[in-house]
Amino acid sequence: MGKPKAFLEIHRQEAGYRPIHDRIHDFGEVEQTLNTRERKLQASRCMDCGVPFCHWACPLGNKAPEWNDALWRGEWETAYRLLNSTNPFPEFTGRICPALCEKACVLNRFNHEPTTNRENEAAITEAAFRERYITPRTDIARNGKQVAVVGAGPAGLAAANELNHLGYTVTVFEKNEAAGGLLRYGIPNFKLNKAIIDRRIALLEQEGIEFRYGCSVSSAAILSRLTQQYAAVVIATGTPTARDLNIPGRELSGVHFALELLSQQNRVLAGMEFSKEERISAKGKDVLVIGGGDTGSDCIGTAHRQGCRSVTQIEIMPRPVEGPDDPQNPWPNYPRTLKTTSSHEEGCTRRWNINTLEFLGQDGKVTGVRVQEIDWEPNPAVGRPRMVAKGEPEVIKAELVLLAMGFLKPEHPEYPSNVFVCGDAANGASLVVRAMASGIQTARRVHDYLSE
Ligand SMILES: Cc1cc2nc3c(=O)[nH]c(=O)nc-3n(C[C@H](O)[C@H](O)[C@H](O)COP(=O)(O)OP(=O)(O)OC[C@H]3O[C@@H](n4cnc5c(N)ncnc54)[C@H](O)[C@@H]3O)c2cc1C
Ligand code: SF4
Repeated sequence: MGKPKAFLEIHRQEAGYRPIHDRIHDFGEVEQTLNTRERKLQASRCMDCGVPFCHWACPLGNKAPEWNDALWRGEWETAYRLLNSTNPFPEFTGRICPALCEKACVLNRFNHEPTTNRENEAAITEAAFRERYITPRTDIARNGKQVAVVGAGPAGLAAANELNHLGYTVTVFEKNEAAGGLLRYGIPNFKLNKAIIDRRIALLEQEGIEFRYGCSVSSAAILSRLTQQYAAVVIATGTPTARDLNIPGRELSGVHFALELLSQQNRVLAGMEFSKEERISAKGKDVLVIGGGDTGSDCIGTAHRQGCRSVTQIEIMPRPVEGPDDPQNPWPNYPRTLKTTSSHEEGCTRRWNINTLEFLGQDGKVTGVRVQEIDWEPNPAVGRPRMVAKGEPEVIKAELVLLAMGFLKPEHPEYPSNVFVCGDAANGASLVVRAMASGIQTARRVHDYLSE
């Protein structure tokens, strides 16, 4: 284990974010890093619990106690090998995982100072790239079978990687111009620098995976063509349909889905050009984000960097409980408590229990949104609480409105037995770590199927 009783002597130390006045003007990653000595001290705090709830909570089953111990001893290569034994892309999770493991850490229960697993993971992986512990595998024995993967998000990439390592010849079909899915065209650069994705894709290509971009594969094409050409097909197409708000004024210009803004901004940063009419910009505008989750938070950070005048975020559900403990979902489960992200810290009015009634506009452009404060009353007859209006409707001024209300779970036709669905496409909108775990499990199911 780490250093005995270190958790009693050493406090949790997060690397923290760059100062707001500095980070708000660029799209560089906001998170900083600790120096090597401090990082090892953080790893030393892991107690190697008899029942490691961190391991249980991580969808990948990452062996945090083992790699934290190696990190504390300064055995960086061993730490990386242990981490990589369950996690194919720790450079992604090390940056953007909500760290389910840390919420389940026994130290979180003890004094709300869990081991900094996520940051340790990123540090181990960056050291492994720097020291060249990560090199393309050249020893893969091919089995002569071909598999197609549709969609190059984290689920598709994890499935492709696992199948490739199992000896299959893998072709990935991706409708976008580059790989990564929501890692590239959803999550803002200030959370995940896209060079991190490019570095991984280059490795996957060197290991033999073929990527075909600009290929939008329909269900019909999968059924008629891919299932004939390939021994198996993995569908990892995510949740492409965002939840809409069909209320009066929805047609006004300036009302957009969150991903329209986020994906365009990431493409602009990648060098793509858009005409003035196409460009969605918050510059000089009052921005309203509808939806209180993480996608909404990413819109807030993006609006700030584009130079907005103000941002308001509204949510129809009640304000979550504050503090580390969630009575409805106690440790070691992930708490559904109030989350304040780096983007919220940059400035934002947050309101809960707000229903949206109508988009208001002038000359075809949105100028504000009529909203109504509401309450949720118990409704035992139906089982779900009932929404009741409270007070008078009011208008929130906004020249840019972003809809961040989640995504619809996709439906799939009945596919033949050699087609497998994984990631968000199978389970609905979730997390990168869950998408990766689903991709790996699906690849193993494909292997079992093709080995029968
Ligand atoms: C704005 C935003 C921020 C997020 N932030 C985080 C975060 O910080 N941490 C976290 O853990 N999770 C986050 N998530 C959730 C996470 O990004 C997703 O759960 C995860 O990316 C799902 O992976 P996936 O591979 O299943 O799908 P996706 O990432 O959606 O990838 C699907 C891929 O399939 C491609 N595709 C779709 N249809 C076709 C087709 N017909 N033919 C070919 N290709 C196709 C798409 O272009 C895409 O590349 C965020 C989500 C959003 C929207
Ligand atoms: S992938 Fe996420 S949940 Fe798993 S160990 Fe890393 S930070 Fe924790």
